[in-house]
Amino acid sequence: MRPASLSFRSRLAAVRDSLLLCRGCLGPVGAGAEAGLCARCWAGLRPLPEERCGRCALVHGDGGCPEAVAWELGDALWDYHGGRPPLGALLLPGIKQGETGWRAALLRRLAQAPLPAWAEEVDRVTAAPSALPRRLLRGFDLGAEVGGRVADRLGRPFEPLLAKAWFSGRQASRSESARRRLPRKAITLRPGAAAEGTVLLVDDVWTTGTTLLRCAQALLEGGAAEVRVLTLFRAM
Ligand SMILES: [Zn+2]
Ligand SMILES: [Zn+2]
Repeated sequence: MRPASLSFRSRLAAVRDSLLLCRGCLGPVGAGAEAGLCARCWAGLRPLPEERCGRCALVHGDGGCPEAVAWELGDALWDYHGGRPPLGALLLPGIKQGETGWRAALLRRLAQAPLPAWAEEVDRVTAAPSALPRRLLRGFDLGAEVGGRVADRLGRPFEPLLAKAWFSGRQASRSESARRRLPRKAITLRPGAAAEGTVLLVDDVWTTGTTLLRCAQALLEGGAAEVRVLTLFRAM
């Protein structure tokens, strides 16, 4: 290739990069962009505040943890509303609508993120279940993918222990109060599944915690000695 054509190509690349806009902040993508998001947007994957509670992963006053949880240890990797625009709130809905580039980039960051030290002590990993029709529609189950990656990192088995009844699949479109009334039997142990020892329950996002609570109750009723919770994001 002649130098002239090389420099033409590199100039063309520079022009292209200056024209491409980040799909998060709509600024120029620049160096370090990944999956259409600039480095500044990716920096929105922020860890939770140091002073957070070890059970509910929120910052609250001293004294007992006011959140209704069924575990002693719970944590999340990143703040759902970290960054501008809030990156978790951008990524997760996008991934669920088929943004495979964002999904791959997020899973790569999961592979690098520090996990809580107590995760090393679990016996098995499971994920909060998604309803079957949604799983079929999307062709993937993000919670199970995240659970599988975490299990690999910990060197523990990933076991899909939980099932969600199909009629509870419209959670996202329900009001907050309707969500809290989610019937208890909507999440159950899978037929033939055995929850034993310390189970790490994994999900993509922890908001009200109602789904995680139902999952933990099903695991404890199903024989788990202890449940611990880890999610990608915590909405605070
Ligand atoms: Zn950006
Ligand atoms: Zn707490």
